[in-house]
This record gives sequence, C-alpha cells and structure tokens, in this order.
Amino acid sequence: MNVLVIGGAGYIGSHMVRLLDSAGHKVWVLDNLSSGFMQAVTAGELIVGNMNDSALVKSILGDNKIDIVMHFAACALVGESCVNPAKYYQNNVVNTLTMLEAMRETNVRKIVFSSTCATYGVPASVPISEATPQDPVNPYGFTKLVIERALRDYSEAHNFGFATLRYFNAAGASPLGGIGEDHSPESHLIPIVLQVALGQRENVTVFGSDWPTADGSCVRDYIHVDDLADAHLRAMERLKHGKGIELNLGTGTGLSVRQIIETCREVSGVDIASVDGDRRAGDPPELVANASRAKKELGWEPQYTTAKPIIETAWNWHRNNPNGYANKMLVESKLD
Ligand code: UDP
Repeated sequence: MNVLVIGGAGYIGSHMVRLLDSAGHKVWVLDNLSSGFMQAVTAGELIVGNMNDSALVKSILGDNKIDIVMHFAACALVGESCVNPAKYYQNNVVNTLTMLEAMRETNVRKIVFSSTCATYGVPASVPISEATPQDPVNPYGFTKLVIERALRDYSEAHNFGFATLRYFNAAGASPLGGIGEDHSPESHLIPIVLQVALGQRENVTVFGSDWPTADGSCVRDYIHVDDLADAHLRAMERLKHGKGIELNLGTGTGLSVRQIIETCREVSGVDIASVDGDRRAGDPPELVANASRAKKELGWEPQYTTAKPIIETAWNWHRNNPNGYANKMLVESKLD
C-alpha cells in the first residue's frame, strides 16, 4: 500500500516507518520536525511541512495515490497540556480536522489514528477495556477524544474507515538500533531513569510514594514501540474491509515506578539513585490495559511482555546515543 505517515519522524512514527518499509509498503512521511528528527526517518520520502497546510497535504495524497494515512503528529505531554491548552487544541484538534478535510477532498478515506489511555481519565477500576467510560482529566486526553469522535462522525457521514488505537505507555526502541526515544526536555520515566544510569542526571524523582498501589508509586502498562507498530500494520490490513474500530494497546501488566527503576538497575548494572517526591498533577494512580479486543480483532499479541526485554532495547539506544539524535549527527558527520 501507499502510506502517508504524519509525524513519522517522531518516536513511535519512526518505528512505524521502519516496519512499513520492511513489510514492503511505500512510505511518505510528513513531519514539521517540531519534535521529530530527520535522522529518525530511515525509509520512505520525508516531506517537511505542516499537516494544516491543506494544499501540501492534498498534493501529497493525490500525487502519490496514497491509500491510507497514519496520524502520529500530536502534542502528547499531559503536564504541558494543562498549562498551555491552546497549543493542544490547535495542533491536536484544529490541525487534525484540517488534515481530515484534505483527506475527504482527495477521497483518501482510511486512517489509523494514535489515541491514548488518557481518554479514560481516572478509571473506576483496572484493567481498562474499551467499555470503560471515557472521561479525560486533562486537555491532552480531551483533544484526543475529540478526534476519536470526529472519526466516528466522518465514518458515518463520509464513509471513512478508521482504526483508533489507544496506547498505554510506549517504551523501548528498535532492536535493530538507530532509532529511539529523544525528547527535550525529557519527561518520560524510562529515558530519565536511564539518563541517571548514564551519569547525565543525579537521580530520578519518584512522583508520589503514597498512591493506593502495592508499593505506593504509580502503576502503568509499558508497551514496546515495535509492538505498537505491529498493531498499526494489522489495523491497516483490516481497514481494507472494516469500517471503524477502537482498540486498547497494552500488555495487560501493570508495573510501578519503583519496579521500573529496579529493572533499569538490573539491565544497566548501575545503582541508579532515586528520591521520593510529590505527586505529579494529572497522574492517575494506575493505568493498565485490557487489550483482549485487539488480540481478538487483529490477532495481535505483544512480543515484549515483561519489563526487562523492553528496557534492554531502551538501554541499547540510550547507551549508544547518549545525546539522542544530536549525538548521532555528530558521529555520522565524523564518519563522512
Ligand atoms: N514518573 C516519575 N518520575 C519521573 C517521570 C515519570 O515518577 O521523573 C512517573 C509518572 O508519575 C508516571 C509514570 O512515571 O506515573 C510514567 O510517566 P511518563 O511521563 O513516562 O508517562 P505517562 O504515564 O505520563 O504517559
């Protein structure tokens, strides 16, 4: 298929591009490089631009006979969305709607959309299935929910086929190397803990030690980024026939912040220092997926089911690229 990956220079999008290419699909990447990296695009054609540039999107869709769009381009930090909601409404809602209109006008009516467990808010119980009520507690989650609903409406009104995939915590890096997680500033748990292991930070702060969980720290469901990409590939195949689907993507296993730090110690062999701090605003205590629908509908089964192998791939990336893509550029220009 001819696939346009919007946000393909970002963390999850770049893993998707690699998988699509190795599965024999033709890939175009549209990314404004606001948080993505040119070096992360290991296949296909990179077009640097904005998804709200209708003329650009329409020409990419039409000129290349695109069959399906995968949409990864979003602002995705809960904390930032609380202090700067306009950025989230503009990018995640307004720009996405503009892009959907460009799709409609060029008659490209299939899309795989990156959504999030943040659309569920603070669930009454875990694990979270797709039947769990969606009641986001921060602007980030709400902006994703708006597009989820828009896709249902576009499906009814304009015959769009859509797969909405609600990720739990994306983690790890391609075992093939070369691509991985690089945010600045970094706010995600596993990269921060591994930066401590690399001596780039003194310690990691555990956000809250009095949560109603087994060890008092927050529990999340960490899903390997290649397992996420695999689910997208399967969803894309399914969209050849189906109309619309909404699926949770997680392993179904909850891991606490302390368990993650302990596994990072084990993998890196470094006695990573941690300190207990205050709770972080907007954090639900426990988010764990019931992903049985994805298994049933897509035949999808995560290959990484425990923390250690996930963290090993992340550790390889961070150890080999201690400054992320900046470091890669330096190394590659030295090699030239
Ligand atoms: N966390 C932490 N210290 C940090 C960063 C994150 O204790 O320096 C916790 C955070 O409160 C959450 C979990 O680690 O419970 C995962 O956070 P992350 O930002 O990686 O992902 P999120 O769950 O917000 O999508």
